[in-house]
Amino acid sequence: MNVKYLFFSMLIILSACSKEDELHVDSYMKPYIDRFEKEAKLRGVDVSGRIANLEAYIFDIPDNGVAGLCRHNTDSPNRIEIDIVYWNKSNDLEKEYVVFHELGHCVLDRVHNDEKDAQGNCVTIMQSGTTNCIPNYTEETRESYLDELFE
Ligand SMILES: [Zn+2]
Repeated sequence: MNVKYLFFSMLIILSACSKEDELHVDSYMKPYIDRFEKEAKLRGVDVSGRIANLEAYIFDIPDNGVAGLCRHNTDSPNRIEIDIVYWNKSNDLEKEYVVFHELGHCVLDRVHNDEKDAQGNCVTIMQSGTTNCIPNYTEETRESYLDELFE
């Protein structure tokens, strides 16, 4: 084997490795993840490092009623999974809600909180969805929910 050939085959091995190391981020979810990073930055929170080390998938989650989840891993990147059935029937704000909720777990390390205000509305988008506080995420309430999320 001559040196030139050896160098060429090493190049192929190197490029194969770097391709495998690239984290999968679903292209439909990406704009919402970018938006999360921007909203965090507006509130003085830098999440860019955590976001860069995150995987995001949209597929058919077999568990009925699960819109999304965050998988915490100790030896591999955290991973967000969103159910494609939920995704396809949701509008922009609903998509943002579920992505931001899962990023709340995966990036901000937040846990569920089902507290409600005097009107019965959930005080945070980190509500579990299994109790009786009313989710009230609208164009009007969005800002205050995001302030709460990143505070
Ligand atoms: Zn959750």
